[in-house]
Amino acid sequence: MLIGVDFGGTHVKAGAVEGGEVLRSTSAATGSSASPDDVLDLIASTVLRLTPEPEAVGVAIPGEVDAEGRCWRLTNVPGFAGVHVAAELSRRLGGCPIAVENDATSAALGERLYGHGREHPSFLMVTLGTGIGAGLVLGHMLYPGANGFAGEFGHLNIDRSPDAPLCACGQRGCVEAFAGTKALVRRFKELAGSEPNEVLPIAESARRGEAAGLTIFSAMGDALGRGLSAVQNLLDLNAIVFTGGISGSLDLAEPHIRSALRAHTFAPPLAEVPLLASELGERAGIIGAAYLTTL
Ligand SMILES: [Zn+2]
Repeated sequence: MLIGVDFGGTHVKAGAVEGGEVLRSTSAATGSSASPDDVLDLIASTVLRLTPEPEAVGVAIPGEVDAEGRCWRLTNVPGFAGVHVAAELSRRLGGCPIAVENDATSAALGERLYGHGREHPSFLMVTLGTGIGAGLVLGHMLYPGANGFAGEFGHLNIDRSPDAPLCACGQRGCVEAFAGTKALVRRFKELAGSEPNEVLPIAESARRGEAAGLTIFSAMGDALGRGLSAVQNLLDLNAIVFTGGISGSLDLAEPHIRSALRAHTFAPPLAEVPLLASELGERAGIIGAAYLTTL
């Protein structure tokens, strides 16, 4: 039995995983002012609730990690820069082996083992939400990158103009600045007057055929398609897999993603890459994390 932990920034979810299934799981919330030590203590206690003597634990975190399990930074949780997450957790869990990886990369490992990755040897798994992340699998192998930064799809530049929208990363014109949840909500407020706090009302507006919702999904699909054109020109993947909150509305964006791919890729086959919704969905994080310890 493997243990996978998905730390999302405000919640810790842990699951006992076997054969690609989550057998049982538990979760806990971190306080809004939790220090790294508080978070690490909570992850350890959550794991120990599942099993008193863990043999190996894989942990997905919302940031980048080097090959030794040291965190570069967590965008939404202060204080984690330079924290050796793997060593700190191992110390709290009786010295058991710990593998730590970026959450989008971990989710791609889950999909590679028990989702579309069984059929598609090379794919990008794009996580759509407030942030847009991605995990990359090449020739059945998870590719985290030399320093853990592979798959930062949300920060591909698709607009070099000086007034391009500002991204959370500090640059202008990133995919995320056009297709992340905040951008969609802001645009909906401009077009429809009301400010939803999530994407669902925007999708409902589009399904009712209203201009506001349709315009937003068209622009979102175009932004994703421009970014994916760069990915396809470089990698010629077998599939693009989507997960995260907005992925349930993928059908609304898909025609626009496809037409941007056809307009901007180097050759026709690159534009016809299958666009798929994740088979594992929300479970990909815990399942992928659990199998990090087997790599
Ligand atoms: Zn950015």
